[in-house]
Amino acid sequence: MEENSNFIRSIIKEDLESGKRDTVVTRFPPEPNGYLHIGHAKSIVINFGIADEFKGQTTLRFDDTNPLKEDQEYVDSIKNDVAWLGYEWENLRFASDYFDEMYNRAVLLIKKGKAYVDDLSIEEIREYRGTLTEPGKDSPYRGRAVEENLYLFERMRKGEFQNGEKVLRAKIDMSSGNINLRDPVIYRVSHASHHNTGDKWCIYPMYAFAHPLEDAIEGVTHSLCTTEFEEQRPLYNWVVEECEMPSKPQQIEFGRLNIENTVMSKRKLRQLVEEGYVDGWDDPRMPTISGLRRKGYTPEAIREFVQATGVSKGSGAVDEAMLEHFVREDLKLKAPRTMGVLDPLKVVITNYPEGQVEMLDAEINPENPEMGTRQIPFSREIYVEREDFMENPPKKYFRLFPGNEVRLKHAYFIKCEEVIKDENGEVVELRCTYDPETKSGTGFTGRKVKGTLHWVEATQALPAEFRLYEPLIRDEDLKAADESEDKTFIDFVNADSLTIQQGFIEPNMKDAKPQDKFQFFRHGYFNVDPKHTTGDKAVFNRIVSLKSSFKL
Ligand code: ATP
Ligand code: MG
Repeated sequence: MEENSNFIRSIIKEDLESGKRDTVVTRFPPEPNGYLHIGHAKSIVINFGIADEFKGQTTLRFDDTNPLKEDQEYVDSIKNDVAWLGYEWENLRFASDYFDEMYNRAVLLIKKGKAYVDDLSIEEIREYRGTLTEPGKDSPYRGRAVEENLYLFERMRKGEFQNGEKVLRAKIDMSSGNINLRDPVIYRVSHASHHNTGDKWCIYPMYAFAHPLEDAIEGVTHSLCTTEFEEQRPLYNWVVEECEMPSKPQQIEFGRLNIENTVMSKRKLRQLVEEGYVDGWDDPRMPTISGLRRKGYTPEAIREFVQATGVSKGSGAVDEAMLEHFVREDLKLKAPRTMGVLDPLKVVITNYPEGQVEMLDAEINPENPEMGTRQIPFSREIYVEREDFMENPPKKYFRLFPGNEVRLKHAYFIKCEEVIKDENGEVVELRCTYDPETKSGTGFTGRKVKGTLHWVEATQALPAEFRLYEPLIRDEDLKAADESEDKTFIDFVNADSLTIQQGFIEPNMKDAKPQDKFQFFRHGYFNVDPKHTTGDKAVFNRIVSLKSSFKL
């Protein structure tokens, strides 16, 4: 991360210099209830980056205190994604490993008169809590004696109560200006199997109670979280203090990462997956780490992007073009150049000798000459892009039209002589002539043409599928969904978020492997899809087009 651009770094520096801390321990604490998204990448970069910078440690901790939504599949994917992003955790922990200690700390609170068992329902507790302008009301069970609370809490643990029948609440202050301190629920009954502890527990700690304990148990020094937890900080400190935790972590909040036209809520992402709007959590349209990977993003691009968004308290949405900018930057020197025709139109070059195939030399990456050259066949029959021909073009159209001459990238000038149509009037073939004098690389200067087209030789071209993406849901549609009475965001999923085209690629691409990345001339950067490369037809996901309006 850039020097001096980060208030968290300043706090930590001061803590080390003043002797308040002698080490730095951070954690990344995902709940395993879904796949990681690009927002999580921000938390990962900050937590691992800070610890790294101060020669500290980072724990990957699964915050698995809510058994109903959690699953081993998510645990595995999260580990995989963090490692893929390039980070190594010193410790791997599960909050559920601390359930015994959490239970004991809750008992300690009861013994100190700082917690009580409440029989009110969750709805009643909400009603009694008051509002921002009105104080809360004491529960009739608030005065229960310590002995009774201990007895009831023990019975909660033993499974003698139904879900929702009783809860354990911290006894703090029902008239506090901070609603989080109005006797928050810290344990609930939930008869549910846990992915780690099985059926050992039927009571589970609430996040606001569990999280500070987890941090303290692990000796986390700086607990970095997003600003929506700012209001919870007094409760966080209360739990650490009253539970008499030997280690005292400090919570520091930073602004969430939001990106325009990018759904970042795990709940919404899960709905898209479960209702089949996308091809799983790793659908290339998803802002998940696995989706971005499958689309073709690199860990470097994601890290650079996240770092460039900076660390602050604000959480305004950044332009999606910024994310795209960083993947272009990363692939610019790495990705081989090639040509692919997404929507083919056959061209016959009538004056090119029948049966002849010549091999043309082309640079693999003009911006990185070390990558060498490739060979491209050329013959009498080629494919060009259908949109590169117009029978009646407007002014300033420089591509193919009857009588016009264009340059074929790496090859010759060709001139459109004749248009062949089928019985429906659709153009099915162009007849062109070529000029052997204009061969690329021979220094021909006789005349100039304005258009340069990409193409592939027809007899050796390999079939390929191209998948082009647009946002799943645009911000304006999300807003419309929020404002609508009868529609949800699902009703606004962009019907054009995926376009599939069948075309052709250069034959030298025959060995392309899943996750290989290329820059297709004029079309942008593409990734070989890891899921759909079966048989001999490769499937390419467009990572990003070539054009950018984004300026850093
Ligand atoms: P969501 O709201 O999408 O469900 P979450 O915050 O509930 O996400 P967790 O698994 O609890 O998901 O998140 C793990 C960590 O990642 C938390 O510390 C959280 O603050 C952080 N995080 C989640 N989303 C973002 C974001 N958009 N920007 C920065 N950090 C984030
Ligand atoms: Mg969360």
